[in-house]
This record gives sequence, C-alpha cells and structure tokens, in this order.
Amino acid sequence: MTGNYTFTMIKPETVIDGHAGAILEMIQAAGFRIVAMKMTKLGKREAEMFYEVHKERPFYGELVEFMSSAPIVAAILEKENAVESFRNLIGATDPAKAAEGTIRKRFAKSISSNAVHGSDSDENAAIEASFFFARTERYTANGEACW
Ligand code: ADP
Ligand code: MG
Repeated sequence: MTGNYTFTMIKPETVIDGHAGAILEMIQAAGFRIVAMKMTKLGKREAEMFYEVHKERPFYGELVEFMSSAPIVAAILEKENAVESFRNLIGATDPAKAAEGTIRKRFAKSISSNAVHGSDSDENAAIEASFFFARTERYTANGEACW
C-alpha cells in the first residue's frame, strides 16, 4: 500500500453541518476512488491514539476533544500519487491560508475545525487506514476485496 492510497476523515462539525456529501463529491470529482468508507465516532482514547504524534503540541487537548465530539466519516482513497494529490485538494491547515477551490477554503471554520484530515505520507496513510479498516472492508474498482 504505497504511492496510490491515502486516508481521510471528514471532521465532526463538518459532518454535523451536513457537508459530507458535498465533500465526497469534490473528492470523487478530483479523481479519487473510495476504497473503504464509514461513519463512526471516535472515543477520547481513540482520538488520543490517532493524534499521538501531536501530543506535545499546545493544541493536542483541544484537538482530541474536538475529534471525539461527534461522528466523523473515515475513508481510504485511491489515486496516483494519492497523498500529495489529496493534500493539494484539501488546502492548507489554516483555512485563512487555504487556496481557492480547496476543500478547506470552502468548508473549514477555523484552524481546529478545518473540515478534513489528509495523511501526510505513504507510511502514515497505511497506519491510519489500518486504524479504521480491516482488509475485508477494502474494495477494488470492480468490487472485489482489496489486498
Ligand atoms: P494537517 O491536518 O493539515 O496535517 P497538522 O497535522 O499540523 O495539520 O495538525 C493536525 C490537526 O490539528 C489540524 O488538522 C487541526 O485540526 C489541528 N491543528 C493544527 N494546528 C492547530 C492550531 N495551531 N490550533 C488548533 N488546532 C490546530
Ligand atoms: Mg497532519
């Protein structure tokens, strides 16, 4: 699972506000295929584990509270050069700096509630995908189970 896969979450406030459909539309229009997808809610401990790399950052507590506050939509996406291509589609972490046409420019409310997560490397995409999805929940383009 290198190169052509990334992992995303549509974040709590964005799901609550009813924007998941519009965001999935943008993702598919940009050429990503949905390999796996679910709506689920992170417990506090799960959010702590997912964002463990940020545990020394000042916003960690706020981030964990926010990400466990309501359901998220998690998905594995497939496209050539998926990680970089998806980071370009979502835009900068701070929506004030996100480029026109990006998901965060359109849907983020703040640097914390910034609409979507996108993996930052192939290695983390694989780790994050496996945090949410079993191999039996991943599908190829013809509907066959992946891997
Ligand atoms: P990205 O999601 O763009 O990869 P980071 O990995 O740096 O950004 O941060 C993870 C998440 O933590 C961000 O998406 C955002 O929700 C939150 N975050 C980042 N920086 C801040 C900040 N300065 N204040 C509050 N929340 C932040
Ligand atoms: Mg990140």
